[in-house]
Amino acid sequence: MISETNVDGLTGTDPPGLPETPFLLLDPNVAKHQYRRLAGAFPQTQIFYAVKANPEPNIIRLLAGSGSSFDVASPAEIDICLAEGVDPRRLSYGNTIKKPADIRYAYERGVRMFVFDSEDQLHQIAAYAPGAEVFCRLLASSDGAQWPLSRKFGCSPAMAVDLLVAASGLGLTPIGVSFHVGSQQLDPHSWEPSIAQAAGVFAQVREHGVELDFLNLGGGFPVAYADPVPPIEDFGSVIHAAVGRHFPGIPLRIGAEPGRYIAAEAGTLRASVVLVARKSYTDDSRWVYLDVGRFGGLAETEGEAIRYRIVTRHDGTATGPTAIAGPTCDSVDVLYRTTPYELPLALHTGDHVEILNTGAYTTTYSSNGFNGFAPLATICIGDRT
Ligand SMILES: *Cc1c(COP(=O)(O)O)cnc(C)c1O
Repeated sequence: MISETNVDGLTGTDPPGLPETPFLLLDPNVAKHQYRRLAGAFPQTQIFYAVKANPEPNIIRLLAGSGSSFDVASPAEIDICLAEGVDPRRLSYGNTIKKPADIRYAYERGVRMFVFDSEDQLHQIAAYAPGAEVFCRLLASSDGAQWPLSRKFGCSPAMAVDLLVAASGLGLTPIGVSFHVGSQQLDPHSWEPSIAQAAGVFAQVREHGVELDFLNLGGGFPVAYADPVPPIEDFGSVIHAAVGRHFPGIPLRIGAEPGRYIAAEAGTLRASVVLVARKSYTDDSRWVYLDVGRFGGLAETEGEAIRYRIVTRHDGTATGPTAIAGPTCDSVDVLYRTTPYELPLALHTGDHVEILNTGAYTTTYSSNGFNGFAPLATICIGDRT
């Protein structure tokens, strides 16, 4: 988390030159620290930072310098990494839904690792990225995840076996499988069913004379928002024990694709109170309207799924129940209405609030200017080399 000394705006000692709220204060060194901690918890694992969590070039550069690889999903994300000097052989094109032109774009720039989860996409990779390494994404359960993934991605193990064998016949190099157990996954044991499925796929593919060695554990590693989460070291030990059980004595290249875990704690979102209101004279609950909401970067409050911690300069004084909403004229622009939030009664128009651990999935989710509100700006602080 960014230290209090960096985020002193609540006490009126802002670093000079800060813009109007809302904006994200980002310390890329925190992302580097998170990378190192994850790498320590997952030794012998190639870490592909999921660029979509926060594609800020200063983060990409620091992570690249620390030895990270990158999970990219589009030509634009490839360009961001290449512009920071990342070797294209350290990029994995991890989006299962790629246009043929985008596959070709990646291949022409030296990307050689591609995911697929359908026969169609496999044929397109064979056509536009001849000879590339490919891995198949398995359907996985998101039980236990606060930001679940739907059945949009992945295929069944039986289909994965057929497609990986077919990949070989198409001149591609099948290397293994991936899966994703849902983002903000709180249960370290959630990885094991997919690891077991992966082992089954490896064994069946081997019967067709194709050897796999790449097991990609995906992302999902959680961050403490309003509630604490198990430490990353617990995830490392539980997941590695599961890999050992299901792949005994089999040499493996293990990969992981963390996004949220790397970027979230690097950011603090500074916003202002626009208005405090009650809906009737007898209502003891207030509405606090901020100048940031669902469209300004806090999209993950949909369904009140991600519950951010909100800090104000009045903390420690008397509080009352509060609904919290954004500034636009859209009725879905409500952050929290059923989750019990208590904010200080002293909070008033113009006060700053800090929304903590907002470095992941905020700037990239911010709309381009819905209702005329500007997209969420990033201000980088700290040492960036
Ligand atoms: C978004 C994404 C990730 C990152 O997930 P987190 O839950 O943020 O760690 C990893 N892999 C793929 C393929 C993704 O799309």
